[in-house]
Amino acid sequence: MNIHEFQGKQLFAKYGLAVPKGVECKSVDDAVRAYESLDSELCVVKAQIHAGGRGKAGGVKLVKSADEARAAAEEILGKTLVTHQTGPDGQLVRRLWVEEGSAIDTEYYVGIAIDREVQRPVMMASSEGGMEIEEVAAKSPEKILKAAFSPSTGIAEADAKRLAEGIGIPADLVPQAIEFLQKLSKLFCELDCSLAEINPLVTTKDGKVIALDAKINFDSNALFRHEDIVALRDFDEEDEKEIEASKYDLSYIALDGNIGCMVNGAGLAMATMDVIQLYGGSPANFLDVGGGATTEKVAAAFRIILSDEQVSGVLVNIFGGIMKCDTIANGVVEAVKQIDLSVPLVVRLEGTNVDLGKQILADSGLPIISADDLDDAAKKVTAAVKGA
Ligand code: GDP
Ligand code: MN
Repeated sequence: MNIHEFQGKQLFAKYGLAVPKGVECKSVDDAVRAYESLDSELCVVKAQIHAGGRGKAGGVKLVKSADEARAAAEEILGKTLVTHQTGPDGQLVRRLWVEEGSAIDTEYYVGIAIDREVQRPVMMASSEGGMEIEEVAAKSPEKILKAAFSPSTGIAEADAKRLAEGIGIPADLVPQAIEFLQKLSKLFCELDCSLAEINPLVTTKDGKVIALDAKINFDSNALFRHEDIVALRDFDEEDEKEIEASKYDLSYIALDGNIGCMVNGAGLAMATMDVIQLYGGSPANFLDVGGGATTEKVAAAFRIILSDEQVSGVLVNIFGGIMKCDTIANGVVEAVKQIDLSVPLVVRLEGTNVDLGKQILADSGLPIISADDLDDAAKKVTAAVKGA
């Protein structure tokens, strides 16, 4: 799960990490009032969307008067920002964060992610702040310093010192930086983050180490123990179809192809997507209906798949293991009767009672294209979509 920058900064503040003072704003007038309430001539008006790259896209503006704050807010609020992380459709700006400006001396990068290879959280730090870290990693990987740490202790003081000194934090600010990095590692572990990134972390002319940006992702499997974090979820920033799917406990991820997929089991869903691609098709989604799919769940899955205007064919690929194929076939038939199916539907069933299942599909009188195996199914659905 993702949160906004300002929410991230509020969590930082709770953990004693220095952040600029700021105010969340939902209107232009809010932004003007926020400017006036902040005790700083220089302020920053920042678009709040769940994506980085806002600066380059015009979503971050420095202002030096209430009038400038008004003009910046008018320009950014309601604008659709397109950054390298939003995709080509961009993301509508519904809120702003107005904060006191900082007299930046130097910009750095610091981030924590889970490293699968060492099976631990790893802190990364770089002197190349403000730039896209992927670019730094590709062009000058030696400029990224790393330290793995145990989630039970957080980053060791010696490692934090090595990183702080290594990226060129001035000697007099190193103790402050060490404390900062240690608190950040504590936050990462205690809140079950999957990513915590600060780009840029800055040193200021008046000798402070502050986070000017905050990007935090949480491990959704751990959210059950963080009610306060779940409350930060912003549905405006999420795909409507994904929100609907989560109500039915379906694992659904929207993609940009045109073949809707309904599959049981994440591995089979991945394999199905691969085989569709192999036959020149393009999946519109990942969808795992789970082991105990009921008629209601299958119907909801169909509705969600078909609410995607791009979808011009659907492939149902179900392995009847725990659940028998006849039960699944009945579910599919019921669901198709409930909804108005306007695109070709290919169904591949395999497993227990498969013959009975196929018979139910054939007897239903519905225009369901039956397939024998995964290749056959992928061929039939890609052909049906091309013909449509
Ligand atoms: P992002 O582009 O979405 O990552 O947004 P950031 O929050 O990182 O802001 C982009 C850039 O704006 C930063 O890299 C800074 O250079 C600049 N910026 C942000 N806050 C301040 C500030 O208080 N003072 C100054 N001078 N620049 C700032
Ligand atoms: Mn940034």
